[in-house]
Amino acid sequence: MINKLGVVGAGYVGLVSAACFADLGFYVCVIDNDANRIQALKRGEIPIHEPQLEELVKKAVQSGHIVFSNSYDDIKDSCAVIMAVGTPSNSDGSANLEYLYSAVKQLSQVLKNGSYIILKSTVPIGTAESVRNLLAECAPNKVYPVINNPEFLREGNAIHDFQHPDRIVIGISDQSHKERMQYLYSHFIKNQVPVLFTDNATAETIKYASNAYLAMRIAFINEIAMICEKSGADVKAAAEGMGLDTRIGRHYLQPGPGFGGSCFPKDTKALSYYANANELDTPIISNIMRSNTARTDDLNAKIDALFMADKRKNIAVLGATFKANTDDMRDSPAIPVIRFLIEQGYNVRCYDPSHTKQFREYFDFDLLTTAQDALHGADAVLVLTEWSEFQLLPVTEFSGKIVYDLRNILNGVWLKNAGINYHCIG
Ligand code: NAD
Repeated sequence: MINKLGVVGAGYVGLVSAACFADLGFYVCVIDNDANRIQALKRGEIPIHEPQLEELVKKAVQSGHIVFSNSYDDIKDSCAVIMAVGTPSNSDGSANLEYLYSAVKQLSQVLKNGSYIILKSTVPIGTAESVRNLLAECAPNKVYPVINNPEFLREGNAIHDFQHPDRIVIGISDQSHKERMQYLYSHFIKNQVPVLFTDNATAETIKYASNAYLAMRIAFINEIAMICEKSGADVKAAAEGMGLDTRIGRHYLQPGPGFGGSCFPKDTKALSYYANANELDTPIISNIMRSNTARTDDLNAKIDALFMADKRKNIAVLGATFKANTDDMRDSPAIPVIRFLIEQGYNVRCYDPSHTKQFREYFDFDLLTTAQDALHGADAVLVLTEWSEFQLLPVTEFSGKIVYDLRNILNGVWLKNAGINYHCIG
């Protein structure tokens, strides 16, 4: 049975999975080809911002349940290896599998025969099959079951989501693989978490379909917000009214500046790519990204109209990450908005509570250290991420400024009563 686990990729999914499995009593070795990242982890530094992760990793290090390494040799005795490397978008929208294939090749040179290779990375339909073919070429004398086990955690709530999943999806090609996977997830099975065993392609489809569906809900409510702004209806109340219908539900119906992050855009694009490549006419899936881009364009025009009309040039931007409680800026909807402001000649001062290092990958200026620093001297404020810290800012910080809250998180009534020129969505 599985007691030694290898994890390839010490990112948002790999580190969280490793820490949570270690907490359940497994012995986990996490490897990454980024030497700096592994050195940092060995020094006890967590390279990403994720609530509770530091405490969990520290506990696992102290109990000897987690170790970090740069070498595939250190996971060669693992009973199962979880693949958690990135699968970013290629320029045509397809998923870039070069990190996965490279990791599989390196792994196959050392991993003991019979170990399970578990694909936790989000991979296109048919990937388990191609990994199997690759393994047959690279390690013809060994047999490794290739399992899909897509991850559904949300950054910012990742530990909670991993420990309390709605469901666990496991894609297998042979019923004999069930037992070992049930052992890996026995804690969750004991706690009545539904575990769905499917074939590989179905597990791959479930992950893509789930992300594209959630992205579609956000795109949909943003289109409703545009309609509300035209008609004078209140989009918050409209979303609540829709969400109270149990057939619809309340989640992912918050209007905002569009969906972003390292998953929804890339997975929606990859699903659409798959449909196109297979000559399938899927107008809903194919237009989700178009709706999201239209959202950015519409908001940029509204921001410009609002700030220009009042000759506001110095803009304090609050929030840069794609959502609160993470430092992840990948595909953040804040990026095209900040770029647009800069192109239009506005002076932008930006603050994000995560102090994300990724900001400098997108912009050639630094984030400010506090919200007050960003607000100082600004004549307009744009809220782009729903960090709760922004709700605690004293009203005096907004005096004399136009406030455009693209996350509807500030207390508009309170600000308006204090004489602030406050605008929000819908
Ligand atoms: P990430 O970029 O944070 O981490 C990936 C890590 O893999 C990096 O540290 C990188 O250095 C390492 N890596 C790349 N190639 C390697 C190799 N050949 N050998 C060893 N290490 C290698 O990525 P992530 O956000 O954790 O996402 C990983 C996968 O999980 C993706 O497929 C993603 O779609 C999926 N996923 C992500 C989330 C999320 O919220 N981030 C949620 C569910 C699923």
